[in-house]
Amino acid sequence: MKEIRGTVTGGCQCGAVRYRTDVMLDNAHLCHCRMCQKAVGNIFAALVATPNASLTWTRGQPSVFKSSDHAERGFCNQCGTPLFYNSLDNDRINLTMGSLDNPNQFPPGGEVGVEAKVDWLNSITQFTDSAETGAEGDKAWAESIRQTSRQHPDHDTDDWPPK
Ligand SMILES: [Zn+2]
Ligand SMILES: [Zn+2]
Repeated sequence: MKEIRGTVTGGCQCGAVRYRTDVMLDNAHLCHCRMCQKAVGNIFAALVATPNASLTWTRGQPSVFKSSDHAERGFCNQCGTPLFYNSLDNDRINLTMGSLDNPNQFPPGGEVGVEAKVDWLNSITQFTDSAETGAEGDKAWAESIRQTSRQHPDHDTDDWPPK
């Protein structure tokens, strides 16, 4: 696996758990397997790995669920954000792309676990009217969410929550 140099940071939604690494691996992928679906509470896990030795927890520590004798799933026990899939059979740890401060950085190059892939996944790129709903559809509501958000920003902070 090729190494990609450069500082990468991320963490959970509430900011209690933050991580940093200086090396990523070029294995960005989606896993549709049923265990990943459950672990991330979604229809697939989007993952990209860093060598175990390169990863440091810069704030707090993840909680871990050992989902089998071969893997651990890391998450924040304060807000529930899934943070990683760690195969115990190798020396890399797969971070959840949504927990990266920049989830755009590592486009997936493939998919695995397709036996559990949901039937409707390929239709989601054809939506045409999704802009009318959700937080962007109502300006006052969106502004209230912004002003009361307890989500940690997408960069490291000295103090969190802010003093
Ligand atoms: Zn958290
Ligand atoms: Zn999986």
